Amino acid sequence: MPTIRHQNRVAVLNILLRYGPLSRREICKITRLTPASITNIVGELLDTGLALEMGSRHDPNGRRLGRPQVIVDLNPGGAFAVGVHLGVRTARVGLGDLKGNILKQIGFSLHLGDDSQVVLQSVAGAVSTVIQEGGIDPRRLLGVGVGCAGLVDPKAGVLRKMYHHGWQDVAVADRLGSALQLPVAVENNRNAMAMAESTFGQAQKVEEFIVVHVGTTVGSGIVIDHRVHHGRNDAAGQIGHLVLEPGGPLCTCGQRGCLDTLASEAAILHRSLQLAEGKPSSSLARLLRQAGDSPGVGLVFDAARQGDRDARAVIAEAAQYLGSAIGHLVRIFSPEMVILEGPIFDLGDLVIEPIEQSALSQAAQSLGVSTRLVRTCFGSDLMVVGGVSLALLRFLYAAEPGDWSHEIRGLTASGLSARLR
Ligand SMILES: [Zn+2]
Repeated sequence: MPTIRHQNRVAVLNILLRYGPLSRREICKITRLTPASITNIVGELLDTGLALEMGSRHDPNGRRLGRPQVIVDLNPGGAFAVGVHLGVRTARVGLGDLKGNILKQIGFSLHLGDDSQVVLQSVAGAVSTVIQEGGIDPRRLLGVGVGCAGLVDPKAGVLRKMYHHGWQDVAVADRLGSALQLPVAVENNRNAMAMAESTFGQAQKVEEFIVVHVGTTVGSGIVIDHRVHHGRNDAAGQIGHLVLEPGGPLCTCGQRGCLDTLASEAAILHRSLQLAEGKPSSSLARLLRQAGDSPGVGLVFDAARQGDRDARAVIAEAAQYLGSAIGHLVRIFSPEMVILEGPIFDLGDLVIEPIEQSALSQAAQSLGVSTRLVRTCFGSDLMVVGGVSLALLRFLYAAEPGDWSHEIRGLTASGLSARLR
């Protein structure tokens, strides 16, 4: 029965990922498989190098009778995957190991109007480079996971639409797969980020959480009951197109007043330039003028950090819109955690406080909202770790070979402690 054997093996890998290192006895208790199966599966994982023995210890629950138990953990160098982030303005490619450590990383800029096939060729070149420079055994490479901005069909591996570049129906998995001769999985980048948090990050043991990404655009990855919520046509989570100011600025999607036009980096820069035009003698205006033709949003962030009032006002306004959108998400899904990602959150309380006030106010708490708002612990690596996690979920942790649902399986802390008792 290869399928059941495969599923049991995946269950053990999953438990080691989330709760390792563990003794064989603890793995038995958690998985509820028989000691004989665990001996077999762990033996197989040790033989193939996916797991390692890490010495021995007594049962942590306090029983010191009998022999200490040998403990087992995942071997970081047991398998590798390449993570790709294909954003609007940047692409990043990184080689990651079984524990989500990024060993090599390359990034390059994209320009509006770039041809999708040329971009994929550059991505394929970067993938080959990180594999070569990583110096790994190619037989241990599981595949490539690509997180794309835009509308993605993960089952077909196709990028259906990327508004900013005007790309349509780009067969990312087929193109990269044939160029690299490797298996390739494709997802929306927000969903890939959620997979990173669930596989290696703060949401490893969390059933319901949402990742909110703020960059060139704003988006979210929603995980419900350990599953990424794709929705119909894989269109869920596009909070960037929530209309928060009817009749507001025109969005790439055709609507007016979308969150993207109010709180994305592009919106913040646009709003700052507008403000500078009206107040040419302000310090923000001077700063933006000094940058010449192409000022970056980083200038506005720096000015806010240094106490510039106009920059702070623009940031606070964007943060209030973000808070409002996050508040909607929190009330609809009541997640345990919302994880924030993007350079804007480096501004700390200048951004976080207005968000908390809008999203998690006393009024919200009176509705039973008890969501934790946290920042990602991966920093700007989150996108690449997302691609690596996607590849691992597709090519190592999938319940059935070829399963594209990218289900994130694990036990909650309470479920685990009940089983260990
Ligand atoms: Zn829109």
